[in-house]
Amino acid sequence: MKSLGIIITSVLVSSVVAVIPIAEKSKNFWLNSGRASIEESLRVRNIVEKAKNVIIFIGDGMSLPTITASRILKGQSAKHPGEETILSWEKFPYAGLAKTYNVDSQVPDSAGTATAFLSGVKTRMGMINVDASVNRGDCAASQGHELDTILRWSLDTGKSAGVVTTTRITHATPAGAYASVANRNWEGDNEMTDVHGGCKDIAKQLVEDNKDIQVIMGGGRHYFYPNGHKDPENGHNGQRQDGRNLIEEWQKEKATRGVKAKFVWNATDLSHVDPASTDYLLGLFDSSHMSYSYEQETQDTKDPTLAEMTEKAIQILQKNNNGFFLLVEGGNIDHSHHSGRAFDALHDTLALEQAVAKSASITNEKDTLILVTADHSHTMTMAGYPARGNPILGVAGKASDNKYYTTLIYGTGPGHASPRHDASHHHTLVESYNQDAAVPTHSETHGGEDVAIYARGPYAHLLTGVHEQNYLAHVMAFASCVGPYKQSGACSHSGGIIG
Ligand SMILES: [Zn+2]
Repeated sequence: MKSLGIIITSVLVSSVVAVIPIAEKSKNFWLNSGRASIEESLRVRNIVEKAKNVIIFIGDGMSLPTITASRILKGQSAKHPGEETILSWEKFPYAGLAKTYNVDSQVPDSAGTATAFLSGVKTRMGMINVDASVNRGDCAASQGHELDTILRWSLDTGKSAGVVTTTRITHATPAGAYASVANRNWEGDNEMTDVHGGCKDIAKQLVEDNKDIQVIMGGGRHYFYPNGHKDPENGHNGQRQDGRNLIEEWQKEKATRGVKAKFVWNATDLSHVDPASTDYLLGLFDSSHMSYSYEQETQDTKDPTLAEMTEKAIQILQKNNNGFFLLVEGGNIDHSHHSGRAFDALHDTLALEQAVAKSASITNEKDTLILVTADHSHTMTMAGYPARGNPILGVAGKASDNKYYTTLIYGTGPGHASPRHDASHHHTLVESYNQDAAVPTHSETHGGEDVAIYARGPYAHLLTGVHEQNYLAHVMAFASCVGPYKQSGACSHSGGIIG
């Protein structure tokens, strides 16, 4: 690590002297580091072997400002100015951009976008793996219009598959891997009491139609427990109206087949799962969404970290010589932004960063394609002219109303006040702080601009440039020779090899 000089912490005004690492004052530092980057880029070789394994990491709502701000927070937590810090996926050799709109919406939601990057087909907002000829919520019309996904294609070619998230496992992004619904809200049968046409809720689809998924981890137990069943952790009532206990059914089905399966609901039990003697793992760690990573660090939430879940998932999936597909979502980034609070969005981005670092360290770049991207953006922006090293959650300066404002502010959200609050009167550095929003909305909204894609491994070089978001599913399928690219993908490509 380079010497970064002394930094000033706790600054609340923009007049603070910038903290410039001593080395950066020398032109040679920039000339030499620029030259070193050229040499590094020249050493990059496109890998044109078949991808045995594919891992896609989704930071839900992880916009570029979220990534930049998280990078600075990471650096500042290590007592550096922060701006020069590198996140684990920023060491990947390739990056590109994805256009995220849904076919019917300029600014997308997670259901339409998950369908795009997992099935390879863009669709309407609010629908999961149903094509856009169907209207949202039309159960009857959706039948026959379901879309297969990279997870199903991978399982069908003898690979293993897993889904890991910090949201309910039935939420839009994880459901995008395994379910088809005309309305993303159909997470449990209690959400479908007015739906006709025989459609299945997402929890039921997971247990009944996806018996071959080896690893399932996230939150959302209440859609699996029947009404009247008390949750083991918080005593909350189960939500199912059909009286079924889908967790028990999952366990029974595995016992009937005689496969080595485990159900766990807390971090301690997960840590005791031995990958060598576990072929199927169901981990549901909360009755609804899992806790924010900062709460995991500071309270006894009994939740495993995203990195712990990811590591266990890979250890189990890696046992299959045919390879695996794994979706990992940092889903609470989105929830923090929706609440108009940047603090947890940044901390949960850093939790995702740890999960990516772990996966990169226990897989081989030669045979494992790793993608890191977001499904969509948010309205958080990074503004003003705060000095170098200024706390990223701090105050940027004074606005023309003579009040202070924070570096991170929102376009929409619950942080709106008229007249505006003076940011210096608030504790802007704490978890509960609501950054200013220009426009009042109960829930801060998504943003519509492109998101970044970072990639390493076989055919990662296809993920450069600007593409429609559905392109991601095509690259994953092409690189691993599954689904529509089973015959025509990397395995038959002139530069490739037969896997
Ligand atoms: Zn959202």
